[in-house]
Amino acid sequence: MASVRRQRVAEQMQEEISSLIAKGLKDPRIGFVTITSVDISADLKRAWVYFCTSGTDADRERSQQGLQSSSGYIRRMLGKRLRLRNIPEFEFKYDESLDRGNQIETILSEVREQEGWDDPERVRGSAEEVALAFIAGKRFLVTSHLNPDGDAIASMLAVRLLLESMGKEVVCYNPDPVPHNFMFLAGAADIENTTGEDSFDHTVVLDCSELNRCGPLPAEELRGKLVGIDHHLTVSPLGEARYLNPKASSIGEMLDKVLEHLPVEIDLDLAKCLYCSILTDTGSFRYSNTAPATLHLAARLVEIGVSPWDMTLKVYESQPVERVHLLAEVLQTLVVDPSGKHASITVTDEMFEKTGTSKDLIDGFINYPRGIDGVEVAIQFRQADINRYKVSFRSRGNVDVASIAQGFGGGGHRNAAGCELSGELNEVQKIIYQAIDRALAP
Ligand code: AMP
Ligand code: MN
Ligand code: MN
Repeated sequence: MASVRRQRVAEQMQEEISSLIAKGLKDPRIGFVTITSVDISADLKRAWVYFCTSGTDADRERSQQGLQSSSGYIRRMLGKRLRLRNIPEFEFKYDESLDRGNQIETILSEVREQEGWDDPERVRGSAEEVALAFIAGKRFLVTSHLNPDGDAIASMLAVRLLLESMGKEVVCYNPDPVPHNFMFLAGAADIENTTGEDSFDHTVVLDCSELNRCGPLPAEELRGKLVGIDHHLTVSPLGEARYLNPKASSIGEMLDKVLEHLPVEIDLDLAKCLYCSILTDTGSFRYSNTAPATLHLAARLVEIGVSPWDMTLKVYESQPVERVHLLAEVLQTLVVDPSGKHASITVTDEMFEKTGTSKDLIDGFINYPRGIDGVEVAIQFRQADINRYKVSFRSRGNVDVASIAQGFGGGGHRNAAGCELSGELNEVQKIIYQAIDRALAP
């Protein structure tokens, strides 16, 4: 075939394959790929389809495998569209030619921009991708972020229950203690606070996209493949298999999607974990992340046997009296800015000592400054070390506190975020108030 014609066919193939990929091929291994060129042999029997992709070498390899196994489908579609008698056999190859290096960068950044790839609110990976990893693995480490909240604990326990019901071995791990009000969930007493020298074929990280927020993890060669499920705002989801949906209310809601691809029925213990995850991350179905689907799922869980009142009693109305004494101390530190738009509270080690409490009892304190009429941003400073403070933010208006926290190396959601800062309390407070004043400035 004349080389001009061959060139034209190659261009058409590149266009058609790109559009098939853009519409979404089913194989979950295929990541964000761009077809950079197609070469066809002179006898038109073979074609080499070059692609580039972002991510790690493992991402690239998975995409290549996914593309190759979709090639039957792609050939059939091309046969129809290009009206060629013989569609060449094709081989997908990663485009690593150096002279294309710059071109690839340009293509990637153009397409990334067009497709909103850098949009932190974009969904990445899929429930199916995670389900496949759950099916493939045998021995799992399941973990979440430090200072675990209801979502972190309940989703870890939910993942253990569902994996165990598939016959897998599971170790749940969090170096920080389980808050007392989540101890009623099935398996809560068996969350390890170290991982020892154990080795795993998969490590599942929940409700968190940064490994450094998980505390010490086993060495890379001991932890196997990473599986990430998260709903925080981020452009860099974690894991070789991943599911990131910043619009999901909670990991519980996302796990329900994963369960659609697994041979697991939701029993009462699992239903309680999923409900607890949703209940705590939606502030008892009050926050704007409470979508119709969230309530539909909660209804299904109640049908399975979860009692909303019993969950309320366990999660919110079983406080040790020491927590109320601590709250009394903390509320005396309330500072409302003269603008009335931000308010803060402070928790120090001295208060823990005085009341015989610890940091796992302060969940929810920040709702007091947040609940003041006119306040747009609430802040909590909690002493983490002698001159180090964990800062929590809650926003109830238009201020995106995740981006404020990111400015200090932290992260979170638009309305709830956190970071850690070193310095004397009054210095840390000054820096944070200034950042908030800037965010609030018209
Ligand atoms: P907290 O104030 O600890 O309840 O956290 C509020 C939200 O911000 C949660 O979704 C956390 O996962 C997130 N967050 C808190 N601290 C950090 C941090 N140091 N880095 C990243 N995200 C954080
Ligand atoms: Mn969390
Ligand atoms: Mn969460």
